[in-house]
Amino acid sequence: MLVDSFGRTIDYIRISVTKNCNFRCKYCMPNTPDEIAEDLIPLDKMLEFIKIAIDYGVKKIRITGGEPLLRKDLSSFVKSIYDYKNDIEIALTTNGYFLKRYAKELKDSGLKRINVSLDSLKKEKIILISKKDALDCILEGLHEAKKVNLKIKLNMVPLKGINDDEIVPMLEFANKEGFLLRYIEYMENSFASDKIKGLKSFEILENIQKKYNYTMIKKEVFGPAKLYKIDNTNNVFGIIAPHNDEFCTSCNRIRITAEGIICPCLYFQDAIDASKAIKNNDKKAMEESLLNAIKNKPEKNKWSDGETSTRAFYHTGG
Ligand code: SAM
Ligand code: SF4
Repeated sequence: MLVDSFGRTIDYIRISVTKNCNFRCKYCMPNTPDEIAEDLIPLDKMLEFIKIAIDYGVKKIRITGGEPLLRKDLSSFVKSIYDYKNDIEIALTTNGYFLKRYAKELKDSGLKRINVSLDSLKKEKIILISKKDALDCILEGLHEAKKVNLKIKLNMVPLKGINDDEIVPMLEFANKEGFLLRYIEYMENSFASDKIKGLKSFEILENIQKKYNYTMIKKEVFGPAKLYKIDNTNNVFGIIAPHNDEFCTSCNRIRITAEGIICPCLYFQDAIDASKAIKNNDKKAMEESLLNAIKNKPEKNKWSDGETSTRAFYHTGG
């Protein structure tokens, strides 16, 4: 079992498989060049690192990016993890653009859950936020994913004056489709557009309360969100609020980048470079890197309100 210096069991790894993306979201990477050079770890090598983590008790693996579906061999990576241990919870976070093409083969390979980022139901707003005319593709991808029985969550980052008028319509859409919508507080970072301002969780809740009464029910079982239920319905939504201290108390995760850097915390600059160990398939060195990352996991994120992260979310996988 992996237990950090503060007694938290770490049983969840997020793997970013590329920092490249076909979108340029305002809150993520609006000004990065089309193609970012990266020294990618081949996925069959990354698998050997993942196997070590699984042997140490990791139970959940989320594949993210950049846009993970840009990585062509992703389904066979999922299948290899599933074949190694078929009760591992394998999930994917995607912008949904290529989902229609890959949903079935991902499901057949052992993927259980997907989180799709969807910030608006309006074509022009999606273009404004992501610089891509992507709404139809995302909706078709969601439809396909639903058809093949993937469990689906939607992630929305509410931004003032941009999509905050869609907080309720997005909730109604998610409820109608049977998806769990989670609102994510915008996390300030130096790669984002400096013109945007996110809504804090209390502002999101105030917005919802104009139409619906709700009750907080619990923390999500497989995620960092607090869950709320709309009164007199079975409809639930979540809010992910990393500005909140409690967020760290229950943290159970570490991250590894596509280049083999292990990040013990999203908002903490220290990281362990496991790239050489993974590329050389040096099992002892991989194990040492993993244990070092767990030992180095800070008690809390080094992020106070108003501060800006200099680590890119498209690099660490959000
Ligand atoms: N490209 C995929 C996607 O967008 O779903 C996966 C990678 S993306 C970095 C993972 C998640 O991070 C997305 O749900 C995205 O909305 C979220 N994200 C990125 N930058 C963020 C920021 N500055 N604040 C809050 N959430 C952010
Ligand atoms: Fe790409 Fe996801 Fe970042 Fe948007 S949030 S630019 S889709 S990596």
